[in-house]
Amino acid sequence: MALNIRTFVVGPIETNCYLVVDDKNKNAVVVDPGDTCAELEEALDGVTLTDILVTHAHFDHIAGVSRLVELTGARVWAHHLEADWLDDPARNLSAAMGEYTPAVRVGRPSVLLQGGETTTLLERSLRVAHTPGHTPGHVIYIFDDVVFVGDLIFCASVGRTDFPGGDSRTLLESIRDQVLSLPDETRLLPGHGPWTTVGHERQNNPFLLY
Ligand SMILES: [Zn+2]
Ligand SMILES: [Zn+2]
Repeated sequence: MALNIRTFVVGPIETNCYLVVDDKNKNAVVVDPGDTCAELEEALDGVTLTDILVTHAHFDHIAGVSRLVELTGARVWAHHLEADWLDDPARNLSAAMGEYTPAVRVGRPSVLLQGGETTTLLERSLRVAHTPGHTPGHVIYIFDDVVFVGDLIFCASVGRTDFPGGDSRTLLESIRDQVLSLPDETRLLPGHGPWTTVGHERQNNPFLLY
């Protein structure tokens, strides 16, 4: 059975927050809750949210974490290099947004990642890959042929590298090693904008044509 994936576009910079449900057991995970979202909370009715997967700790990917933890007690996954960022408005960049967003403090993650973990979630195998470049502790979550790529790569674009801890060469290496190594038909679900595939980006992404 295919994963049941719904997208909620949340917050001031239109972040894709994904709800992934195993329809058989009604277990669910949320990827990058970038803001509170009434529609998402409605969609959680009747399912058990067990885990919140954070690709990286910029405020636009975590500002909705506290509310979901309060509602469900779900575990929060993030890379250990950004463990402190979730509760630090300067590092998660919410402080820099001025009037556009309140300071974001969402505690520390409960599952600290290194990258390279393989586990089972929603009765499927899940692999975590460390993909620095946009931020030092950015990770992607690989469920076989569906990958949540955060702000690593977008349809026809790549993540910004001008924030603290960003590095463009490292970003392109992460994309080459962890994304372009996957089969062409693999679906990529990014943190902003439409979904794409590995093959589409291999052929069309202007940042990868070199
Ligand atoms: Zn970001
Ligand atoms: Zn983002």
